[in-house]
Amino acid sequence: MSKLRFDVVQDAFKKKALDVEAPAKRPSAYFGELVFNREQMRKYLDVKVFYALVDCIDNGRPLDLETADKVAGGMKEWALDHGVTHITHWFQPLTDLTAEKHDSLMEYDNKGGMIESFDGKSLIQQEPDASSFPSGGIRATFEARGYTAWDPTSPVFIQGDTLCIPTVFISYTGEALDYKAPLKKALKAVSDAAVPICRLFDPEVNKVNSYLGWEQEYFLVDEDLYAARPDLMLTGRTLMGHASSKSQQLDDHYFAAIPSRVAAFMQELEIEGYKLGIPIKTRHNEVAPNQFEFAPIYGECNLANDQNQMIMNVMNKVARKHGFVVLLHEKPFAGINGSGKHNNWSLGTDTGTSLLAPGKDPKGNLQFIVFFVNVLAAVQRHNALLKASIASATNAHRLGANEAPPAIVSAFLGNAMTDVLHKLLEVPSGTPIEIAGKKGASVGIVEIPQIFLDNTDRNRTSPFAFTGNRFEFRAVGSSANCAGAMTVLNAAVAQQLNKYKADLDKELAAGKSLEVAAMDSLKPIIRSVIDVVCFDGNGYTDEWKKEAARRGLDAETSVPEMIRTFTKPESVELFTSLGIHSLKELEARNEVKWDIYSKKVQIEARVMGRMAVNHIIPAALEYQSKLLKNVALMKEVWPDSFKEKAGVALELADQVSALVQEIRTKVDAMVEARKKANRMEDEYSKACAYHEIAESLPGIRQPIDRLEEIVDNDTWPLPKYRELLFIN
Ligand code: ADP
Ligand code: MG
Repeated sequence: MSKLRFDVVQDAFKKKALDVEAPAKRPSAYFGELVFNREQMRKYLDVKVFYALVDCIDNGRPLDLETADKVAGGMKEWALDHGVTHITHWFQPLTDLTAEKHDSLMEYDNKGGMIESFDGKSLIQQEPDASSFPSGGIRATFEARGYTAWDPTSPVFIQGDTLCIPTVFISYTGEALDYKAPLKKALKAVSDAAVPICRLFDPEVNKVNSYLGWEQEYFLVDEDLYAARPDLMLTGRTLMGHASSKSQQLDDHYFAAIPSRVAAFMQELEIEGYKLGIPIKTRHNEVAPNQFEFAPIYGECNLANDQNQMIMNVMNKVARKHGFVVLLHEKPFAGINGSGKHNNWSLGTDTGTSLLAPGKDPKGNLQFIVFFVNVLAAVQRHNALLKASIASATNAHRLGANEAPPAIVSAFLGNAMTDVLHKLLEVPSGTPIEIAGKKGASVGIVEIPQIFLDNTDRNRTSPFAFTGNRFEFRAVGSSANCAGAMTVLNAAVAQQLNKYKADLDKELAAGKSLEVAAMDSLKPIIRSVIDVVCFDGNGYTDEWKKEAARRGLDAETSVPEMIRTFTKPESVELFTSLGIHSLKELEARNEVKWDIYSKKVQIEARVMGRMAVNHIIPAALEYQSKLLKNVALMKEVWPDSFKEKAGVALELADQVSALVQEIRTKVDAMVEARKKANRMEDEYSKACAYHEIAESLPGIRQPIDRLEEIVDNDTWPLPKYRELLFIN
């Protein structure tokens, strides 16, 4: 084994779990201690300011500058008490990473000394030089100004010595340059659309919240092995590597005992998460070796998403302490499962009613059915857009590759809810919807079986599954900002609810009761969703692909094409009618997405080419020299019979030549394709050209992986899958 690889593997294997220093308090005592939450607000703000801020958070009432000054003053005191020296506006540009620019709190006090200062103005707005963030040409670089503006609904938090203020990021002319601004608009749209319907059932409802519970999957790799893999370091995934003899075929990793180094990492991650007010609940081994998952208790969508963004940063910092690197890439290793971020999503009223769970009585059940069916209709109508919302260069490796999720967005209901929908079509509108068991079954009554909450038969192949009291959108990538998907989902549902309410109003105006009118408006929608979007079978089969095409569901697999969906007429109508995006914004964001796509593939292609030429071919030739020297020796010793005796060596040397030649030819062709793509001016065409390059990379990988099988273990320069995946 090459000296370097041998040492690295040995050292990695010998590492022991760290002792984590847990706070000497129970978790509930330090939960949220790094967040300026209501408890801290009460302590650091005077009563009037506190209530003004709470009103702003809960009801969107704007703060005047004078009050904002006082809020900033309170925040500053709280922060100084926690050792803070810097502040930053913390925002979510279109890069899928968060951004921060720190300023110290120090100012001259005009009396010859220094003072810590922080006022309302700098709380509310900042003007980072934004010319280097992707904007799709909305801001020509000479007009580089972009603003960050405080989002009071997500509490400020402390990271190290810095007070972080969650903000939206918008251009000088008001277009959103980030993920948060459109998400907040979509959340308002869905509340505005849902409230009038809820009020027919409960006049007390004033607001509907959208909830998100994300499940974050990730891989851990020992940091020394990681550092020996240029592909992991630069692209987040292995571009080459033969499958390990043992991988996930024994199903012995899923839910298995957590390795102690990993457990120590998880423990520290949770402690840091609790301090930041993130209610982490679940942790476990995932299906693939060295793959893990954690999930918090769900929360309000905007806040939950901020927390996911926060914890993704924290994950890597904590991992490094434990000698690991976190891989959030959707497909770091070929041949084993990739990582997603299931988005559990539901709606609930400010009166505490979940709108996607059966109610307490027939009326509550009717309300549930109304929302349930309308969500399905929204997903049906915008299935292509939902897929576009999760499409990226990295997630492309999961889409349509026979693993969750398939590249067709359908919805899984499970037997119980499917039966309920069929039954509803059979009975007259207005028939009470009961929970089975409570009232005793009788013909003509629609019943939601009591067992169904625990009985949400699992279908891992469905990208959008009903799981008893929520839908689980499973197509989101592990590295993604959930806001992209959540904006589209909430917007689509808002549009559908508005449409439904208009139909319902007509039925009510005709003098029908709510029970009859609601079902009369719902029945055509039920028929349509059963025929089109609902699918409980295996989403990976070719039959389903054919059937889905027949049903008119989108089956596109090219990411650049998927991105185009954002500017198709039905999407433009959706976003503009709800005031979420203008056409200009949508076009600009598409430019950004295509640009990011092209650049990510470009980086992979470069890394692939250089590793092939600088790592693989030299190793292969070195091995070949060994073989040929061996043949030459044989010839010396056995001049008459060497040909038979050197048969294997010659055959191997021959194979090496052929594979090296194949790699060289393919790399040269790929470099030419890149040159051609780089000359393209139009972002869409360039992304399409890079899509073809992405499709060609497995062709280069194949002879490399063959060589890994042939070349002697000593000479192979890169840590192998069996080393990357089984050391922890
Ligand atoms: P799974 O069995 O799907 O792996 P997990 O326990 O890993 O479940 O994660 C489920 C996620 O769904 C958690 O974040 C949980 O809080 C969240 N969740 C539960 N109920 C709801 C709901 N009504 N709305 C949104 N999210 C929810
Ligand atoms: Mg889970």
